[in-house]
Amino acid sequence: MKLKVEGQSKAPLLVFDIHGVLMGRREPADHRPGGEVIACLRAAGCSVRFLTNSSSITRSMMVGQLAAVGVEVMEEEIYTGAIAVARYLQSSASPIRLVVIGSQVLRDEISLLCGDRVIWAEPEEADTVVVSRDPSLTDEFLERINRSSSCLIATCRDADFPMGTGRVQGPGPTVSRVEAALKSVAHVVGKPNRYVFTDVMGLTAEDLDRTVMIGDSMDQDIALANNAGIKSVLLLDGDARAASGSSWCPNHVILALDELLLLFQVTV
Ligand SMILES: [Mg+2]
Repeated sequence: MKLKVEGQSKAPLLVFDIHGVLMGRREPADHRPGGEVIACLRAAGCSVRFLTNSSSITRSMMVGQLAAVGVEVMEEEIYTGAIAVARYLQSSASPIRLVVIGSQVLRDEISLLCGDRVIWAEPEEADTVVVSRDPSLTDEFLERINRSSSCLIATCRDADFPMGTGRVQGPGPTVSRVEAALKSVAHVVGKPNRYVFTDVMGLTAEDLDRTVMIGDSMDQDIALANNAGIKSVLLLDGDARAASGSSWCPNHVILALDELLLLFQVTV
């Protein structure tokens, strides 16, 4: 097995999107499954990380879900939308009076990582609102938040994501609804903000030079790579022409994950 990466002396750092790449997707017939591809890339010397905008799942839960589809990962290789928000809140110079519109996992991750940096506030008394997916959000709750002057932070604007054989609603509609109610534009800290590379993963400029983003979304994964000035691979189902018509531009388009082995010249 050998590995050669054009123009790089160090082995690449590969950042994999999860939903639509390793989960919620089936590889074409006669192609290697994702877990096997990643094992080959690791064996060839690649470093790997896994990046999702989801904020309703913990790292340990994600390890279990990926293991169930044959992908072996370690908790510390996973970065979620909840971790991105918590890192952002950690950087505040003073304690934050916080309200979260989202999952209990998001609240728990913020509590765990921010400790007494965060004070859980009533909606009327918050100075910061974190918003993610919450289909049960009421107009009454929005009116209460509107009585405070809050900084608005969002995990992401994903409209939906693949789950099983279908797609489920993402945080995007909730974020839009809160923005309209508060007449404010949210600061997004998840993909496609390069913040997830620099401050959440802690990648240096040297690290980014050897980093490649692999994802199925032009507006999240490829946009992130373009924003960070790194290389990217777009994984599509069926028709590579679907990549056309976007302002974001991947370096490569593939239809099966094991094409990465050819791309990085990994021979098995
Ligand atoms: Mg995806």
